[in-house]
Amino acid sequence: MKYQSTRGHRMPQTFSEILLGGLAPDGGLYLPEVYPQVSADELEAWRELSYADLAFEILSRFCDDIPAADLRALTGKTYTPEVYCNARPGDNIADITPLRLLGEEGADGADGKTPLHLLGLSNGPTLAFKDMAMQLLGNLFEYALTRAGQELNILGATSGDTGSAAEYAMRGKRGIRVFMLSPHNKMSAFQTAQMFSLQDENIFNLAIEGVFDDCQDIVKAVSNDLDYKARQKIGTVNSINWARVVAQVVYYFKGWLLATSGPGQKVSFCVPSGNFGNVCAGHIARMMGLPIDKLVVATNENDVLDEFFRTGVYRVRKSAETYHTSSPSMDISKASNFERFVFDLLGQDAGKLAALFRDLDTNGGFDLRGTPEFERIREFGFVSGRSTHADRVATIRDLSSRYGITIDTHTADGVKVAREHLTPGVPMLVLETALPAKFADTIREALGREPERPASFEGIEALPQRFQVMAADASLVKAYIAEHTGL
Ligand SMILES: *Cc1c(COP(=O)(O)O)cnc(C)c1O
Repeated sequence: MKYQSTRGHRMPQTFSEILLGGLAPDGGLYLPEVYPQVSADELEAWRELSYADLAFEILSRFCDDIPAADLRALTGKTYTPEVYCNARPGDNIADITPLRLLGEEGADGADGKTPLHLLGLSNGPTLAFKDMAMQLLGNLFEYALTRAGQELNILGATSGDTGSAAEYAMRGKRGIRVFMLSPHNKMSAFQTAQMFSLQDENIFNLAIEGVFDDCQDIVKAVSNDLDYKARQKIGTVNSINWARVVAQVVYYFKGWLLATSGPGQKVSFCVPSGNFGNVCAGHIARMMGLPIDKLVVATNENDVLDEFFRTGVYRVRKSAETYHTSSPSMDISKASNFERFVFDLLGQDAGKLAALFRDLDTNGGFDLRGTPEFERIREFGFVSGRSTHADRVATIRDLSSRYGITIDTHTADGVKVAREHLTPGVPMLVLETALPAKFADTIREALGREPERPASFEGIEALPQRFQVMAADASLVKAYIAEHTGL
């Protein structure tokens, strides 16, 4: 299995070669040269597999340069019920991503014959779906670095979800340190406690006196100093990382296996989307032969993706035009994984893709209206919708009263949009991308009470915290990193 760049760079790479890197040298993203195919018979044979063994079967088709026994050990240690222990009472923890039937609905939430499910992806240590991929990444990184006798210092900026998922995945890992910048006093008490209560010596929380954009600017400034970056062995774990995408392919298969009983049955997925990493994995699962009917892209008020799927016009927003919403992990102006999907829309024509993304850089977007390429989104099963704060609040209330379940704001965007795209008789699986404990403000607004908290998070705000406050100054951050790496 070799990997190509979406922009045509001619040096096919192996899985291990792209594991620790980011963009291809030509600025493109890596994709496999061909999508491995899974037959209906193989799918049926996978029904009895544990999540870890299913992950091994799927990953082994994408990475042939890690010995099978090693890969099996890595998936086995990653996908255990001890790690994904925060499921709701009644969910089957052994499934890792348990499926919960909400009810049978018709159009617009009326009673009907279409099963509406939640696929629980948020039972890991940080209560958001990013753990599903990040936990594997932590183990893969440790394995690859140990094998190569190298070390890696991960530098990132976070306003919440990604930073904590990265820290919980990398804590205690050999050869890895994490330097995570967050805006001082700007995260919720819960999110702050989640990150800052980690006592592992390889985790460094830097609370920057500024806003999230200041943190991001510092990361860019440090990364642009190529000498420093090389000397300090600086890397990232951002959402374009291929291993993260491929790890997410697994739960589409698991969801299908849990929702069906025989070959060829179709299901649809609805995916609360931001950087398009999650739903891109669904597209790849479909390209591998998984019988998916629709892939529903749900956005919040930041509707750049919804606009594209409705009209064919892709118009990225300026960061000043990005709304801060109550589903903050979907607040994006430009979807970093979208290029992978567009590559397939264009029939994997790297020349066309490079031209289109040059347009995007100069004109802030591109227009595929009326082209045969845009028609292909139907062939790929894509539809979309958007949701607002009022929709989230109404949906959280509705699911609480109708089904007695509390969902988070991102999942609420998903349920709202999923209901607009039900096909009679085709199970609809909404991906639950976070648990409500993380977004207490909106739950209080919708339900007038606090969200449930998994037992392991009781009293987390009272734990001792470990962090360093620092002015928004890249040179201070650089000095801090150098001091702690000793490089
Ligand atoms: C990251 C995140 C998303 C968006 O996922 P993408 O892969 O960026 O599309 C949605 N919901 C939650 C809770 C997230 O943390």
